[in-house]
Amino acid sequence: MNTAFQIGKIMEIPIRLHITFLVIIPWVAYAFASVSTYIFGKLYGFGAVEPATLRWIYSFAFAILLFVCVALHELGHSFVARRFGIRIKSITLYLFGGVASMEEIPRNPALELRMAVAGPAVSGMIGLAAIALYWWAESLLGAAHPAAILMWTLGIMNLILMAFNLIPAFPMDGGRVLRAWFATRMPYVLATRRAASIGKAFAMLLGFLGLFSVNILTMVVAFFVYVGATEEERATTVSDSLRGIKVKHIMSGQVKTVGPEMNLRDLTDLMFREKHRGYPVIVDEKPAGIVTITDLQRVAEEKREGTLVGQVMTRDIYVIGPEEEAASAMKRMTESNIRRLPVISDGKMVGIISREDLVRAIELCSDGR
Ligand SMILES: [Zn+2]
Repeated sequence: MNTAFQIGKIMEIPIRLHITFLVIIPWVAYAFASVSTYIFGKLYGFGAVEPATLRWIYSFAFAILLFVCVALHELGHSFVARRFGIRIKSITLYLFGGVASMEEIPRNPALELRMAVAGPAVSGMIGLAAIALYWWAESLLGAAHPAAILMWTLGIMNLILMAFNLIPAFPMDGGRVLRAWFATRMPYVLATRRAASIGKAFAMLLGFLGLFSVNILTMVVAFFVYVGATEEERATTVSDSLRGIKVKHIMSGQVKTVGPEMNLRDLTDLMFREKHRGYPVIVDEKPAGIVTITDLQRVAEEKREGTLVGQVMTRDIYVIGPEEEAASAMKRMTESNIRRLPVISDGKMVGIISREDLVRAIELCSDGR
């Protein structure tokens, strides 16, 4: 299911909205329509704005502007990345913020540092600009005017956004800054490990704080920070132990394949006999699809004899070249949630690489070091 839709393009980067986003806009509007307090002596939130129609118009405008600011934060990261030749696929706005999806970032601490800092820098600049606009609105319209409140609230929120993203823990930008800073002094894996343990310690602290103050949101954030730190550490360790290993080094060259005209009864027997869970389907020496035990299980026992492989196989297949990095195979499998990739050279299938091959390679490499 397509859970995000494109709303436009900025700097040729597609900007997409995730469906959860449609929930968060009214929620943010509601939250800011219900609050009215003073921050540094200035009105924050639209709770005191009368009449109610005006309060809601400003609250909704604020919610939309806030997410424009989140998109600009992501564009900040993307802008720096692009200047270093990294391709940006899209920016998607989710419930909790934005995510820029881009090609794998080369391991260059100086680049990573600049990229990580760019987002919070944009938020900080927007924050200061909004506060400057507040002073202007205040002198022109008065401090209680909703336009002045809008600028002050937007300014404070952007500064909070900047501070929050600079928390020194993955998956926050601050975690990346910390890793890049360590990486100028030590190997990348060590730098990641160190940044991750600081992130985890931070998450624990945040978790305890949330526990004592019975603040659910703090506990949720702590949980995400902890998971993010662990995930980043694992991904880096995996790709590091696979460094320099190519697909052709660990793929299975002897590929068992099937034709599209084989019936599913015979396929069941074959899988049972050879203990394979999936086969590439070959037509004229070229892979036409892949058939796995999952495809088989969708067909009832009694219908298998009359059903052919060609009718149930998956046609959209992901492939990889023999000269590509094993780490890329890992990434592709994880992203698409599949277990094996046919290896294709000059349009012909030369092998197959499975998750088991990758796990074995990782185990062998980490033993040897
Ligand atoms: Zn960011």
